[in-house]
Amino acid sequence: MFERVPDAPPTIARQSDCQTCYMCELYCPVDALYVAPESDMQTSVNEAELAEVGLLGSYRENIGWGHKRASTAKADQTFQILKQMK
Ligand code: SF4
Repeated sequence: MFERVPDAPPTIARQSDCQTCYMCELYCPVDALYVAPESDMQTSVNEAELAEVGLLGSYRENIGWGHKRASTAKADQTFQILKQMK
């Protein structure tokens, strides 16, 4: 969740309301966001460490969303998980 800040970039707010949908990471055009996959608990991260290991914007990169990237949608196997849940 983000909060508008006049004349400044938005700030992260109400982190406990996050649904781990990854949309903010997907839509960030400069790969400045990382959504931790641990959805059951709040996780603190270190920006420098995330950048060093290449996690900032990594979900966006891995699905091939962004300028000059190739979509990996055809390789998505998520439907296999959904089939097992029936
Ligand atoms: S992952 Fe989804 S719910 Fe969480 S802050 Fe980003 S857009 Fe909001």
